[in-house]
Amino acid sequence: MFKIVLERKKCTSCGTCEDTCPEIFELIDDGFSHIKGANVEDVEELEIEDASCSVDAAEVCPVMCIHVYENGEEIV
Ligand code: SF4
Repeated sequence: MFKIVLERKKCTSCGTCEDTCPEIFELIDDGFSHIKGANVEDVEELEIEDASCSVDAAEVCPVMCIHVYENGEEIV
């Protein structure tokens, strides 16, 4: 099981995560990234079976505000 965490307050609205992983990330009306299916909060979290492209998005985020955990351990 994977958990994706997004620290929205650090997001600079660059859009790279949405370009890299549109299945999971989208920029919403307030201009910041959002995890599809999560509640809109300062720190968003989503548990998913398959980390999919979220790992790639975490790696390319310029301010490193996307984190991915696998079985409780941060992998990126
Ligand atoms: S890549 Fe990072 S800084 Fe850029 S929009 Fe996504 S979360 Fe925000």
